[in-house]
This record gives sequence, C-alpha cells and structure tokens, in this order.
Amino acid sequence: MSYLTSSLFCGLITDSIRMLSVTNCRLRGVERRCLVPPSPTQKVQRLKKKILDLGPIHPGRITQQFNVCGTPGCRCKDPKRPRKHGPYHNLSYTFQGRSRTLFIRPECVAEMKRRTQRYGKWRELVEQFIQASIDSAREEVLSRDGKA
Ligand SMILES: [Zn+2]
Repeated sequence: MSYLTSSLFCGLITDSIRMLSVTNCRLRGVERRCLVPPSPTQKVQRLKKKILDLGPIHPGRITQQFNVCGTPGCRCKDPKRPRKHGPYHNLSYTFQGRSRTLFIRPECVAEMKRRTQRYGKWRELVEQFIQASIDSAREEVLSRDGKA
C-alpha cells in the first residue's frame, strides 16, 4: 500500500467509525444529545470554507482626527468656541515591516471598518485552521506507526 493510499485508508476508517456512531444515536432516537465531534479533517474543510466565504479583509485600525486650518477667522480658531474640522478618518496598519497611515474618504469609512473587523475574524479562523491541520496530521498520518 502506498503512502497516500494508506493515509487515505486511515481517514476512511476513522470517518466510518464516526458515521456508525451517528447512525447508532439516530437509531436510539437521541441524536440531539449525542454530539459526535467533527473529525480534524472535517474541521479543516469547514474552516477553509469559512475563510474563503469571509469577504474582503484589511489589517489595521481606524482612528478619528479633528483639524485646525490656516484660514484667518475660521470657526476652528474661534477664541470662545473653537470648532475644529472633522472628523477625518485614518487607517493605520503595518505590513511586512512597513507602517502606513491612509486617509479614508467619508463614504468609505463603513466599508473599511467592516474589512478591518473581518481581518480580526480571519486571523482567528486561520489559527483554528492551523490547529485543525495539526490535529488532522496527528490522527491520519503521524499516528500510523503507533507512536505520536
Ligand atoms: Zn478652519
């Protein structure tokens, strides 16, 4: 048996056992209570899909800024009640060791907020994906020699 075939074989056995336990639960009518955890390979597949379905992402943090201009007598320099210009939104991020700060047009703020929030979620999913990949290797490949 080749390396690939045997590792596939191992996976199939594990999946069959899981399917059997689900079937048994159904037969006894307690499917809801009998939670069969997904195999690491199933987790890898689910996470891969979640990552792909996430939508556009962007690293960084959005900050608000209020400015004072150079126009004499402008409201931003009012001696009693100065009202600064803004808010202006900036996006700051560091990627590959390089930091940037970009101005975001008002109509783009909401979308950029969504993208930076998704980035956090994306990182979380990638962490889970790596863990599931490690678990799947342990179950399907590394444990074949009985050690691990
Ligand atoms: Zn001004």
